Amino acid sequence: MPTIRKLPPVLVNQIAAGEVIERPASVVKELIENSLDAGATRIEVTLEQGGTQLIRVHDDGHGMTGDSLTLALTPHATSKITESEDLESIGTLGFRGEALASIASVARVRITSRPAEQPDADATTIRSEGGSESPPQPCAAPGGTTIEIRDLFFNVPARRKFLRTPGTEYGHCHDAFVRTAMAHPHVHWTLHHNTRTALDLPAASREDRCLAILGNDLAEGLLTFDSPAPPHGDVSVWGLAGMPDIARPTARQQYVYVNGRPVRDRNLGHAIREAYRGLLANDRHPVVIVMVDLPADKVDVNVHPTKAEVRFHEPSAVHGAVLSTIRQRLLGTDLTAPASLER
Ligand code: ADP
Ligand code: MG
Repeated sequence: MPTIRKLPPVLVNQIAAGEVIERPASVVKELIENSLDAGATRIEVTLEQGGTQLIRVHDDGHGMTGDSLTLALTPHATSKITESEDLESIGTLGFRGEALASIASVARVRITSRPAEQPDADATTIRSEGGSESPPQPCAAPGGTTIEIRDLFFNVPARRKFLRTPGTEYGHCHDAFVRTAMAHPHVHWTLHHNTRTALDLPAASREDRCLAILGNDLAEGLLTFDSPAPPHGDVSVWGLAGMPDIARPTARQQYVYVNGRPVRDRNLGHAIREAYRGLLANDRHPVVIVMVDLPADKVDVNVHPTKAEVRFHEPSAVHGAVLSTIRQRLLGTDLTAPASLER
């Protein structure tokens, strides 16, 4: 008869990591979300070999004290929620308290942090290797947090084997970076890869941030849309809609956000297609950025480990708001004339 055993914590974390950490890009996404939740206005990401060798995220957010550094690496430890009611209205990007513990169980991690209000010399650094930590050490550092993740999956050969070439992994990291940077234009973002600075995005207006990422050459083909106030129910919709003549063969240039979080959502995908109904050939996909904002208690983000999916309490209201806002903008426009982005 097989014996039932309770698994050791490191193994539990490695199993949890399997759900959230698929590749370097998943680490990038989790770390920059943490920086945003810490109120950072400056986020700098450095990658080596597509993130397979090194992922470093430096921010100027609120930082952590020495005591909280150890806790940050502990599973189910979070500063973002305290009781089950909090799950009904989540105002931060993270809340599961799992990312750092998961990442630490499958990589070499170093975190250095200092709360902004403490003097430079009062920073703390902690290391962890495959989930076993060494005690925190005092050090000097600028206010904010620097997290370095080296050798992802060094202790899980089966996962390491599934990593693609550094070029491919870099592409996924770049995608995760721009998808998040797009929705947080007040933050100055920088992305370095190996010795090169790949992107430098100073704080900007939402339009300018979108254009900096999509490419300024698309400006002529994009219309800004904004739901009328007072918005549909509590739903507000803002974004840029590409004119039919810049539509693409794939949906890669569609960016959909809910409360600042990049999401995949069939309901919203359908609303976008409907907004373009009759304006596009069947095999074409519009270039479009849609940012939906609604009260946190009207959307459930606790439905998927990577939080890439959400559930709306009133999906048809959100669908209607997106469809009608984009459709009205498209139909109110002479689609044969070049658009110039209205601000
Ligand atoms: P979650 O984001 O779901 O809370 P994480 O494992 O990603 O879980 O992070 C655990 C905790 O560590 C966070 O709740 C936060 O208190 C702290 N933390 C992580 N990254 C940062 C950061 N860049 N700046 C300040 N605090 C951080
Ligand atoms: Mg997090």
